[in-house]
Amino acid sequence: MRLSRFYLPVLKETPSDAQIVSHQLMLRAGMVRQQGAGIYAWLPLGFRVLKKIEQIVREEQDRAGAVEMLMPTIQPADLWRESGRYDAYGKEMLRIKDRADREMLFGPTNEEMITEIFRAGVRSYKDLPKMLYHIQWKFRDEIRPRFGVMRGREFLMKDTYSFDVDEAAARRSYNKMFVAYLRTFARMGLRSIPMRADTGPIGGDLSHEFIVLADTGESAVFCDRGLIDMESPGKDVDFEGDLQPIIDQFTSLYAATEEKHDAAEFETSVATGDRLEARGIEVGHIFFFGDKYSTAMKALVAGPEGKDVPVQMGSYGVGVSRLTGALIEAYHDDAGCKWPMAVAPFHVGLISLRPGDAATDKACAAIYDGLEAAGVEVLYDETRARPGEKFARMDLIGLPYQVVIGPRGLENDEIEVKRRADGERQTMQAEKVVEHIAAVVKAELRYS
Ligand code: ATP
Ligand code: MG
Repeated sequence: MRLSRFYLPVLKETPSDAQIVSHQLMLRAGMVRQQGAGIYAWLPLGFRVLKKIEQIVREEQDRAGAVEMLMPTIQPADLWRESGRYDAYGKEMLRIKDRADREMLFGPTNEEMITEIFRAGVRSYKDLPKMLYHIQWKFRDEIRPRFGVMRGREFLMKDTYSFDVDEAAARRSYNKMFVAYLRTFARMGLRSIPMRADTGPIGGDLSHEFIVLADTGESAVFCDRGLIDMESPGKDVDFEGDLQPIIDQFTSLYAATEEKHDAAEFETSVATGDRLEARGIEVGHIFFFGDKYSTAMKALVAGPEGKDVPVQMGSYGVGVSRLTGALIEAYHDDAGCKWPMAVAPFHVGLISLRPGDAATDKACAAIYDGLEAAGVEVLYDETRARPGEKFARMDLIGLPYQVVIGPRGLENDEIEVKRRADGERQTMQAEKVVEHIAAVVKAELRYS
């Protein structure tokens, strides 16, 4: 992509209303633009990151056996009357009327709709288990939208719903999502810690929030430090096999959000030096709720004994748009973002120090074409901006590698390659650049 054609409205000043670094950088780097309280337009750079996050989430859902679909954003109120949540949901729900005065709403979540879809198509336990998901915009009229996309009103969520014949089977579905979530966040370069979370009136132990530790996080959390170094399951994990040992390993050490925190248990079960009281960002939430919706909405299946039983359900959310902010909180410095390769908007920024200079243009074009041909995503800054401005802009948007080409370097057949993560610079011959960059990009994209 040539920068002159792209749309990258970077800001010089830090917007005064942005309180945390991810919000500041997303505005400064031209990733999003606010359209109302908690409502954002995703500009081209931010959109590319959002799509990469979405794709990793999708791949891991598919790997775990969930099936993708798409439900609408607008839902009829009657569906929510069946579950009793139309009144219970309160002011967080955006309620609208169509031209025939029918009551509608912008979906804050999809339990009711998926239950309706399921009951229309499944009759027997023999069709179970089923896991269905979609990645769709939600609207919640939060009291305090803040921190940019971290707590928006309109936000992108991946939500999966599981359907099983009994609780033992439902636990297997729950375990699949538990493992899928560990892998999903790890692939983005985030260390997520599953923490005991509120189950509401359902009770039991099948509710976990996946938390990324960050000082700016909205949740107060308590856990054993040992969880920070626990390895996420690898690519070869067998989702059809017994996942319980993995879940047991991750739940063997204390980890709870504020609502579920038990100070006495924390002190007795965790050694003083291992106790971590911190703040974190909730990037995902998995939750088993049994027959809450299936009984209310009559989603029944014929069980093994021939009798109709309400299906056992769980729901599993990932904050796709929130993750963009969480990633910046984890990967930035004073100069800007430092994207991990897997979610970077482009892999490489190519900077021409003298557009219009024949030798420079030629060298840039050769490297640009070579990288693109090798499948590397390049943002090519061939604009007339001053070099200092180009360097600052490239650091701000945080592409993992920068290739800098100018007439002086070319005279000595030297091109500079900078790694954004640690600022390490290397000079190399022009003919080596494509091969080198293609290899490091490929290596950093490989995941286990
Ligand atoms: P929170 O406690 O942060 O309000 P929640 O428990 O209401 O979230 P869930 O219903 O569990 O959220 O939604 C699943 C996921 O969607 C959350 O784990 C979070 O990552 C994301 N999410 C929820 N609300 C928002 C929001 N207002 N803006 C951005 N992402 C959100
Ligand atoms: Mg939650």
